[in-house]
Amino acid sequence: MSKITGKCLCGAVSYSTDAEPLRMAQCHCKACQRASGTGHMSLAFFKEEQVSINGDFTEHAAIADSGNENIRGFCNACGSRLFSRNSGRPGVIAITAGSADDNSWFSPQAIVYNKDKPSWDCMDGELTTFDAMPPPPPK
Ligand SMILES: [Zn+2]
Ligand SMILES: [Zn+2]
Repeated sequence: MSKITGKCLCGAVSYSTDAEPLRMAQCHCKACQRASGTGHMSLAFFKEEQVSINGDFTEHAAIADSGNENIRGFCNACGSRLFSRNSGRPGVIAITAGSADDNSWFSPQAIVYNKDKPSWDCMDGELTTFDAMPPPPPK
């Protein structure tokens, strides 16, 4: 995989990484629905130390149903939601696949929080599906 670059809607916040995603998922949790305004978020997870971020963004913390703190990063200028970090997975950052300049590399391995999936949000029926958040993969 070549370098991944991306940015928010206005371009004030950008990021790049040479790394491969640790994993990729479609998330239907209610928090993702509210933060995105749509039926799911398409998230790629990376080692935080392998992603460089430029520009000013604001982080909003919320408690996930796991009890962990989920911290979402939004561009200060345009409000696009770009990043999230979770206290339950330190050192890992999730990036919204749609913010990547070329997101053809995105290939979700799973659907999570399927219990909250709206009936109008159609997904690939072949994907591994979890009702909520599956346990983290072995290290
Ligand atoms: Zn912006
Ligand atoms: Zn979610």
